[in-house]
Amino acid sequence: MARIVVVGAGIGGLCAARAVALAGHEPVVLERSAGGTAIGAGLLLWPNAVHALGALGHGGAVREIGAPARRALFRDLGGSTLSCCGATPCDGRRPGDRIEPRIWLRLPEAKVELVKNVYRTVNDGDLPAFLALMHPDVELTTSGAYPDFDATYRGHLGAVEYWEAARELWEAFSIEIGRCELVGDQVLVLVRQQVEGRDGIVVEHDWGHLFWFEDDLIRGVRAYMSWTEAAQAAGLRGGPSEAEAHR
Ligand SMILES: Cc1cc2nc3c(=O)[nH]c(=O)nc-3n(C[C@H](O)[C@H](O)[C@H](O)COP(=O)(O)OP(=O)(O)OC[C@H]3O[C@@H](n4cnc5c(N)ncnc54)[C@H](O)[C@@H]3O)c2cc1C
Repeated sequence: MARIVVVGAGIGGLCAARAVALAGHEPVVLERSAGGTAIGAGLLLWPNAVHALGALGHGGAVREIGAPARRALFRDLGGSTLSCCGATPCDGRRPGDRIEPRIWLRLPEAKVELVKNVYRTVNDGDLPAFLALMHPDVELTTSGAYPDFDATYRGHLGAVEYWEAARELWEAFSIEIGRCELVGDQVLVLVRQQVEGRDGIVVEHDWGHLFWFEDDLIRGVRAYMSWTEAAQAAGLRGGPSEAEAHR
């Protein structure tokens, strides 16, 4: 049997000391503070913590003084439910559903951020990162301005085709975001695209793009010949003028 020193009598230190004792050694716990302070209104133990305490022989005691949390809700500042997990269904989720890692996208500003990331991946030429932002059933609808493009590209395979078609057509291109804002559930973007053709001619054009979402990913984007057209499609009656859009 060995004497094993554990520094700190927090939950980590105390569990380590208990494990040392269960292994047949003698723990010596050193704690610098004189006494504990009770803070907080309750203690929520996640399943892995309960399993760990069970392995240390404290499962019964924990169950005796605790009560199961049937469900946990995560809400935004306005009180809307962002996500829910637990043993009872809520918001259409089945019991035991885990929290979705991309849940932050339910926040409006996160949609705008996601869209900005799409252009970043395009400018960086990072196809895997671009695809990671796309829903498996994504629909990319082009403006019709370039006959070399299909009208619509569907799914990740379609997105790859679109990506390759653009690179086939142009030697280089970059996209600059003029405006990017939330309109209802959609994100409306004014972009200035600069393309250099294989013949060396550089062309600049402003487009309106309209994005919509599903499962916290890009479900579709439609390109319009102008911001005004895109704004009208987004439901902004009349839509702002191009001059206003550039302000
Ligand atoms: C308000 C609040 C609510 C929380 N609620 C929950 C919850 O509901 N569920 C949950 O799972 N987690 C919760 N947590 C987090 C949880 O409390 C911590 O993750 C956990 O206590 C960390 O344990 P620990 O042993 O690693 O560290 P600590 O608890 O920080 O323990 C470290 C100990 O080591 C001592 N120490 C440090 N240095 C020395 C030294 N040189 N010599 C001697 N002693 C030393 C310190 O004094 C301290 O006592 C909450 C935290 C806070 C602040």
